[in-house]
This record gives sequence, structure tokens and C-alpha cells, in this order.
Amino acid sequence: MKVVVVGGGASGLMAAYAAAAKGHEVVLAEKNEKLGKKIYITGKGRCNLTNDCPPDEFLQNVVRGEKFLRSAVYSFPPSALMELLETHGLPLKTERGNRVFPVSDHASDVTKTLEKMCREAGVTIKLNTEVLKIDLLHSTMRGIITQNEEIFCDACIVATGGLSYPSTGSTGDGLRFAKEAGHTVVPCVPSLVGIETAEDLRSAQGISVKNCVLSCRRGEKTLFSALGELLFTHYGLSGPLVLSLSALVNRLPAEELSLSLDFKPALDAKQLDARLLRDFSARKNELMRNVVRGLLPQTLGLLVLRAAGISPEKQANAVTAEERRALCGALKVFPLTPARLRGFEEAVVTSGGVFLGEIDPKTMRSKLVKGLSFCGEALDLDAFTGGFNLHIAFATGFAAGNGILAA
Ligand SMILES: Cc1cc2nc3c(=O)[nH]c(=O)nc-3n(C[C@H](O)[C@H](O)[C@H](O)COP(=O)(O)OP(=O)(O)OC[C@H]3O[C@@H](n4cnc5c(N)ncnc54)[C@H](O)[C@@H]3O)c2cc1C
Repeated sequence: MKVVVVGGGASGLMAAYAAAAKGHEVVLAEKNEKLGKKIYITGKGRCNLTNDCPPDEFLQNVVRGEKFLRSAVYSFPPSALMELLETHGLPLKTERGNRVFPVSDHASDVTKTLEKMCREAGVTIKLNTEVLKIDLLHSTMRGIITQNEEIFCDACIVATGGLSYPSTGSTGDGLRFAKEAGHTVVPCVPSLVGIETAEDLRSAQGISVKNCVLSCRRGEKTLFSALGELLFTHYGLSGPLVLSLSALVNRLPAEELSLSLDFKPALDAKQLDARLLRDFSARKNELMRNVVRGLLPQTLGLLVLRAAGISPEKQANAVTAEERRALCGALKVFPLTPARLRGFEEAVVTSGGVFLGEIDPKTMRSKLVKGLSFCGEALDLDAFTGGFNLHIAFATGFAAGNGILAA
């Protein structure tokens, strides 16, 4: 069978390799001047390519599409990906939280290995080749149209990614192809992204708090509450905790959500009050702006003082019991108002994409169009950070390549 894979990112490279390894004649069309532009920036340039955990644990980290992914992840679990890459000459290492990286710490080595695998399996790679249209005849694949030519094929795997970091080439072309082919596309929203707050947090910009509890409520219901690291930015909040939260609330109206931070999760209100009393009596002649330094990084301490209604110029021994209780309250429940999520330019992944109900989960083949398949972030799949998203791209790409029907 002649197969065209559209997109030379993680999912497309794996799909092309898998299809060629099965004996198909494969052309990989990538619109950029090089393969895997997004892979280069993953894991801060080190590429956290998978998470070395069993499939069940893996699926617990999937936000959208867990059921759909069962088959692909069980057929091609992290251990299988790792073995495949290592046997093709890419040594791997596993770090904290089962995150897997190349030993070299160079994301480019992942792309090089995938490219080598493709070339050895006989894939023809066409760079600077933008696919403009998928050519169908009576709901059957005819070919693909690029800026230069039409390439006729029996099957086409669309691996064009989502909408996030469009500078890497992921501009949602596959979503347009899907719609043109009659598929439903679930509206896309940014995921794993920072959250803008109504409050001006610029004075705390750059401060990272390691052990903080971030909670998010919608009315009476707590949607999220987790301990971890938080980063203050010029627009509001980012960091691991916030990215995870964004994945869960990105379809909810921001105005219905409220956030709160517990800066002292190890102490209950009584223990914290006792700690404040001790601090105040030990530093009774000092200004509160200095006393709070012992509790939080300077500018953050000032924000908390302001929330508690205490002047930073007040001496510790002049703080009333009521003010101390307010400070305790602001340290345990520091309220913030989410305004909106940051955009696709900054989102690690896209949530939304080709509707999973119209795709066969074993083969990634379209249920509507003969010869058409989708894989990777173009599908309505996303997960938390930790190597899960790249693995989704690899596992669905592997399934799509293997799922091409024999002639
Ligand atoms: C900053 C950042 C860091 C990340 N870090 C990690 C991480 O460490 N671990 C992890 O698991 N995930 C990470 N991710 C997410 C992960 O990179 C993606 O989920 C994954 O790359 C998706 O792969 P894909 O093949 O589906 O799409 P993409 O990687 O987006 O690839 C799509 C390819 O298709 C090409 N293309 C698009 N349209 C056309 C067209 N019309 N014709 C031809 N070619 C076309 C594009 O140029 C692109 O090369 C990160 C994402 C970002 C943005």
C-alpha cells in the first residue's frame, strides 16, 4: 500500500516508521525545513519522552481520552517504546517521577533516532512540503495535495499536531482536514498553561514557592487541591501545580472559579498562630516587612501583609491579636481570582481535536473515510506533564502505522 504521513513530529515519525516496518511504501511530508521542531523544545530541550510506568498508572494521568487510549497504550506501553528506541541506539535514563530522558540530555537525539529508524525502514522524507488538502473521492482516499504536486496514495495518516506553540508548525491544519473530510472536531482550548489572575502579582514575579497547596473551587465544590510548586509571573500564576490545574478547568468559565493558596500546609491554623506569636516576640521591635521574610520571600510576604490589612511599617509588637489572626488566615487561605488561561502560544498541549467517537481506537482509522487515519495531538487526547503527552503521540502513531490495512 502507498501511505502518506502528514507531519514529521513525534506521532508522524512513529507512524511512518511503523507503517514502513510493515512493508508499506511510505512518504512522510513535513512542512518545516526539519523534522520534529517541537520535539527539540520538549522537556526544556532534554525531551521527557515517556513515563516509565505500567499502562494502568499511565492511563490515570490522561485527562481526556483515557478509555480510547487503553488499546494503544496496552499494545505499546512505555516499556515497549523504551526498548524500541534503545535497540535503535538511543540510551535512556529514568529520573524522578518515572520521567524518561535520553542519556545525552539532548532532545535532538530523539528526533535523530526516529529519523534514522524511518530511513532504515525505507520511508521517503519530504521536508518543506506543506500538505494543503486531503483529496478524497466518494469518502475514499485519493491522495494529498501539496504546494508542488499531488501525491496519490491508498492511505493517509494525519499527524499534524494541535494548536499549541504554532511557531513549531502545529497550526491546526489536521483539524481543518478532518472537518473537510466530514469529521467532528471538538473545540480546542489550551492545556498545561499558566493562569492569569485579576490580582496584580507583578511584584512577586519570578518567585517560586516549593511546598504550597493550590486549591480551586467552583461554588461549594473543590475541583482541585494539591501540594507542589508554584511560580509567580507577570500575568499571574504558572509552575507545575498550575499547569495541572489548567488541564482540569480549561473548559469551565473562569468567572465561576476561585483559587486559594496555602503557603504553610505543614501547619494547621493553631500551630501557625503559635509560630507567629513566637516570631513576633523574638523580633518585637522589627518592622513587619522584615518579620514576614522569615515566612515567605520578601515581595510575596508584602502581598500577604496587604491581604491581611497589616502595614509593612508596623512593628511586630504593635500587631493586634485580630491582625495576627488575619495574617494567619492570609497565609493559610490566600485568595486569587482566575481571569483566563494563557493562550496556545504558551500552552504545552491542546485539549480538543478530532472527535474520538469517529476513530477506531485500535488502528486510529477514520470510521467515516476509507484510507484516512489520525494520530497524536490532532486527536481529542491530552494528559498531565511527565512524558505522557509524547507517549500518547508515539503510541497512537504506532497504532496508526500498524493499522494500515494490507492491500
Ligand atoms: C514547550 C513544550 C514542551 C513540551 N514538553 C514535553 C515533554 O517533555 N514531554 C511530553 O510528553 N510532552 C511534551 N510536550 C508536548 C508534546 O511535545 C506534544 O504533545 C507532541 O509533540 C505532539 O506530537 P504530534 O506529533 O502529535 O504533533 P507535533 O509535534 O505538533 O507535530 C506535528 C507536525 O506536523 C507538521 N505539520 C502540520 N501541518 C502540516 C501540513 N499541513 N503539512 C505538513 N506538515 C504539517 C508540523 O510542522 C509538525 O512538525 C511539550 C510541548 C511543548 C510546546
